[in-house]
Amino acid sequence: MKTLILVQASAPPISIAKTQQSSTPPVSTVKSTKDEHFAYLSPLETCNSMLKLRQIHSQIIRTGLARDNDAIGRVVKFCAISNAGNLDYALQVFDQIPQPDAFIWNTIIRGQLEADRAENCLSLYTQMLSQSVVPNKYTFPSIVKACSCIKEGKQVHAHVFKHGFDSDLFSQNNLINMYFGYGDIDGVRRVFDQMTWRDVVSWTTLISGYANAGLIEEARRFFDEMPERNSVSWNAMIAAYVRSCMFQEAFALFERMQQEKLELDKFAAASMLSACTGLGALEQGKWIHGHIEKTGIELDMKLATTIIDMYCKCGCLEKAVEVFNGLPQKGISSWNCMIVGLAMHGQATEAIELFREMERENVTPDDITFVGVLNACAHSGLVKEGYHYFESMTRVYGIKPKIEHYGCMVDLLGRAGLLVEAKKLIDEMPMKPDAVVLGALFGACKIHGNIEIGEQVGKQVIELEPHNSGRYVLLANLYATFGRWEDVANVRKLMNDRGVNKPPGCSMIEMDGVVSEFIAGGRSHPQSKEIYSMAEEMLRRLKLEGYVPHKEGVLHDIEEEEKESPLYYHSEKLAIAFGLLNTSTGETIRIVKNLRVCRDCHNAMKLISKVYGREIVVRDRNRFHHFSRGECSCKDYW
Ligand code: ZN
Ligand code: ZN
Repeated sequence: MKTLILVQASAPPISIAKTQQSSTPPVSTVKSTKDEHFAYLSPLETCNSMLKLRQIHSQIIRTGLARDNDAIGRVVKFCAISNAGNLDYALQVFDQIPQPDAFIWNTIIRGQLEADRAENCLSLYTQMLSQSVVPNKYTFPSIVKACSCIKEGKQVHAHVFKHGFDSDLFSQNNLINMYFGYGDIDGVRRVFDQMTWRDVVSWTTLISGYANAGLIEEARRFFDEMPERNSVSWNAMIAAYVRSCMFQEAFALFERMQQEKLELDKFAAASMLSACTGLGALEQGKWIHGHIEKTGIELDMKLATTIIDMYCKCGCLEKAVEVFNGLPQKGISSWNCMIVGLAMHGQATEAIELFREMERENVTPDDITFVGVLNACAHSGLVKEGYHYFESMTRVYGIKPKIEHYGCMVDLLGRAGLLVEAKKLIDEMPMKPDAVVLGALFGACKIHGNIEIGEQVGKQVIELEPHNSGRYVLLANLYATFGRWEDVANVRKLMNDRGVNKPPGCSMIEMDGVVSEFIAGGRSHPQSKEIYSMAEEMLRRLKLEGYVPHKEGVLHDIEEEEKESPLYYHSEKLAIAFGLLNTSTGETIRIVKNLRVCRDCHNAMKLISKVYGREIVVRDRNRFHHFSRGECSCKDYW
């Protein structure tokens, strides 16, 4: 008799107490032959509904097959774990089985797990043991997954060992996952180090687990140590880099993967597209898109959306629209991606028009759709339209505004200078405003020079996000505009006391598939000399066009870019100089910037687009700027 160490005190009673059935309906005692067996069970193979299942089940009862664990086990399996099944029916059938075997117990346990009733699994397991049914290797994978705390996990681990499954890969791999789930890295290592046999799954689980725990270097060490790798392990490591925003490393690994002639599959393609999105590497992104088309990788909705997102965020809206229009079927995620993309680029009319088309095609919008639509309104100052959609999302579609929607509305009202209305909306919100919502109002106060609301909201935002340097900078900036130098100094002191550092300004530009990074005043680039003389010549030409450096940032020491570096050498100016040096006349220059573009760079880029006759697309922390013929798509509102 096994001991009952796994019963949870809080486990709700479930109706599966096994007594020797006295209430079992009388069943015919006809002994079934193999042929009959087959005749009654084969319809189960094609069964696809509970209606049919019930018919088959009653046949089985009539013929006495219900006493046959093999036959009734298949009925239980259909009900417990198939898509068309019904777990409660499975439990009823289970209750009638006099002596279920391990297969049936495993099926019921797995059914509970998959129905999100994991809390029942361990008590079922205990009952299984109490009836002297010996667990097999299919028992533990579910039981391990069902653990709700590390203590249970360790007990189950002991059982896996006790029942001799310490070399069963499935159970071991699940144990690794379980220990990762509770952040118990020592536990992971105990399992992994003691495994007599490890497969690619064990290694890959280890890599993903370490990466998810933020231990990316360890993950890479295990990746390098793996005796053999398949595409799944390559994908796991690349995906790990992408999730950690280490896009350059992802690219390097991807290159090695190609050298080793490993096929680029759907998953690696999706990860690499995200890496391109992160770096703004349009050329690489295009190459991967081309490769997907050429090799016939199945373009499912998710991958298609990733491609559209890549084109939007790499600043190439035309291609995004082209891919979107070419989709044979559009899911809600592709519509959303396109609407959000248009909004990000300030194409409000197009975003709203696409939303209308979506309505005409009877695709029901969701909350993300409205984030896109409201964002579009906010970026183009469409107050009336914004109110209309904010109101109709509840009235027409029954979607309750979430905090993101309030954020968009506050942004919209704030940008339009309706600060009092924005403040009122925040006060009336059903939920507590977060740093995003308050930050939108705060930003608007800076734009419109409202110190009364701005000071109050700014202080609130700083307390909500004490490590976000941008918030301090903005408040100091606001004080500076009103000549309140003492307050400027206090904000800077607070920032210093708390050890908050400004991230260095950094701009990236891709050329021939290579992404170059520039930091303000940096000189490490091999072409550094040419770049600086190009930047100087650029400024000379701009001055002839009437460019006056916007010194506010430097004098007040309050813009986000480092104060040490002269305005002329802000990272985006260096990136543009590099772009002008290395592209041919008329080519679009695309730049990704980690911070908000400063006013001076914004002015300069408008002029550069005019003087050099170039389109310049800049993605900054908040949005896209399309500079063309001396104008920016943001209409100087960012
Ligand atoms: Zn700048
Ligand atoms: Zn702009």
